[in-house]
Amino acid sequence: MSSSSINACLEAARKADAPIIIQFSSGGSQFYGGKGLDNTNYRAAIAGAVSGAFHVRTMAEQYGVPVILHTDHCAKSLLPWIDGLVSASERYFKVHGEPLFSSHMIDLSEEPIEENIDICKDYLSRMSKMGILLEMELGITGGEEDGVDNSDRPIEDLYSKPEEIHQVYEELMPISNLFTVAAVFGNVHGVYSPGNVKLEPKILARAQEYICEKLGDKAPEDKKPVLFVFHGGSGSDVTDIQEAIGYGVIKMNIDTDTQWSYWEGIKNFEAKYHDYLQTQIGNPDGPDKPNKKYYDPRESMRAAELQTVKRLEQSYEDLKCLNILGLGETSAENVLGPRRGGLPV
Ligand SMILES: [Zn+2]
Repeated sequence: MSSSSINACLEAARKADAPIIIQFSSGGSQFYGGKGLDNTNYRAAIAGAVSGAFHVRTMAEQYGVPVILHTDHCAKSLLPWIDGLVSASERYFKVHGEPLFSSHMIDLSEEPIEENIDICKDYLSRMSKMGILLEMELGITGGEEDGVDNSDRPIEDLYSKPEEIHQVYEELMPISNLFTVAAVFGNVHGVYSPGNVKLEPKILARAQEYICEKLGDKAPEDKKPVLFVFHGGSGSDVTDIQEAIGYGVIKMNIDTDTQWSYWEGIKNFEAKYHDYLQTQIGNPDGPDKPNKKYYDPRESMRAAELQTVKRLEQSYEDLKCLNILGLGETSAENVLGPRRGGLPV
């Protein structure tokens, strides 16, 4: 998580002629602000996420692509982090009439469902006033991410129940329809060799059917009352991804695969120019030749960005969202002068 990885996302979106969701985890936000900064009460993670949001807002206008600014898993202990960001959005809203962030996830899947829903209701009331979307989680995403290790959880916790998704729908809908549900259907964070957990996207279809039955005449025409989120998209089979989209998934998270693509870009760069990267002066072309243009970090980071743009192009294809903005072949322009919301005021 850096301005470099954000720029790779924006470049990929422009190339794909499509919008993108850029999301910050708490650890990623802290990293964005700088790991040397004191993070007591998540101060560094709050400041880092705000700083990243301004970077995205400023640069997205230059690339000409719409971006949804989202924050990822926020467990109960991390709520002060989201409180800081919602306050930042409230301040921003007063000036610009729109929030700083578009969407936040609150992940209380570790808590009893009543508590999970109650806290989500409070945040949904506060956030929906500014048009901010709430993503909530039911059930446990397996694997390990951002220091949270769920790799030993019992298998039944990895699949959400239709009754629970219905309960969430019934309780949140009267407040606002600006919510999505990260229901789990065997999702795993990270990429592992094939194991015991299997993706079962049909769980989402069953939940939609169950809720439609309960809603009767009030069920929406497309029979997909719930907007679902797919966690752990990395390493997933394209048929599972597209099946899940058919059942109402509107967002898929991908992290591990882009961590790999970023690293792979650096790895390949090092392999290609290895002999030019060992000393400041002296390479196969001569003992006096300077190596500055190889070890300048921008060179290896740009290789990382290009490899990430390539990986994201594959995701756009998997998610069936290539060429939907109608920007055509025109390249990104550099818009001069501050525009609405573009720069801090
Ligand atoms: Zn996740």
